[in-house]
Amino acid sequence: MLIQSKMEANRLITQIDAILPQTQCAKCGYPGCKPYATAIVNGEADINQCPPGGDTGIRILANLTHMEYKPLNAENGIEKSKALAFIDEATCIGCTLCIQACPVDAILGASKQMHTVITNECTGCELCLAPCPVDCITMQPIETVSDNWQLNYFSIANNKTKVAADLARKRYEFRMFRLEREEAESAQKHADRAMRNKAESAKMPTAQTENNSSMVNNAKKAAIAAAIERAHLLKAATAKN
Ligand code: SF4
Ligand code: SF4
Ligand code: SF4
Repeated sequence: MLIQSKMEANRLITQIDAILPQTQCAKCGYPGCKPYATAIVNGEADINQCPPGGDTGIRILANLTHMEYKPLNAENGIEKSKALAFIDEATCIGCTLCIQACPVDAILGASKQMHTVITNECTGCELCLAPCPVDCITMQPIETVSDNWQLNYFSIANNKTKVAADLARKRYEFRMFRLEREEAESAQKHADRAMRNKAESAKMPTAQTENNSSMVNNAKKAAIAAAIERAHLLKAATAKN
């Protein structure tokens, strides 16, 4: 693949990302469809690493990139029927681990409360399965209907399908933006706390300073006591005379 400029590379990344299924499952070895598209353009990844895209996806990628067609790399997984996640709400313990794993924020719930999957937004990536400590998430096959975007992603002629996949991309991008923002806020809080601690310890006297100051006070007290004692003695001697 001969790429002449950064602009051309970016355009190709966008075109490849538009073809990829937006499952955001990371089975290609990259943390999402856009990073995989970037790796293909950078010559770091082959076009046969996306199991959800399957053979159709590889052929479309080969056509777009002018790279040689190859069957799906088995190391990345196998092409299988699409399915969506369902949570057995009676068994869910509300640990929130699945929410943290979902790349498109398709799970609703809160700590110690039951969780549920927003079916229309689930991409079927399976990333929520492994973290669940009570195995209450299962993948259930998708109903075969013409406007089911998860099933028919490559029917680009079906505009409803494309719009829904674009929504999955936007949800993924927004989640990445939110995670980056949370990380930056957390780093800022740590930095602020460290600055506050430093400023407070600069204000506090050290143990040595406290010790020195206490020694000075004791010496002053002893000198005053000695002066009072001398004054008493002088007074007593004056009275005798
Ligand atoms: S669908 Fe999964 S395997 Fe395919 S490109 Fe996207 S993240 Fe990678
Ligand atoms: S609910 Fe589970 S399977 Fe569905 S998108 Fe989220 S992590 Fe993936
Ligand atoms: S990981 Fe399992 S138990 Fe924890 S909130 Fe999700 S569904 Fe419930």
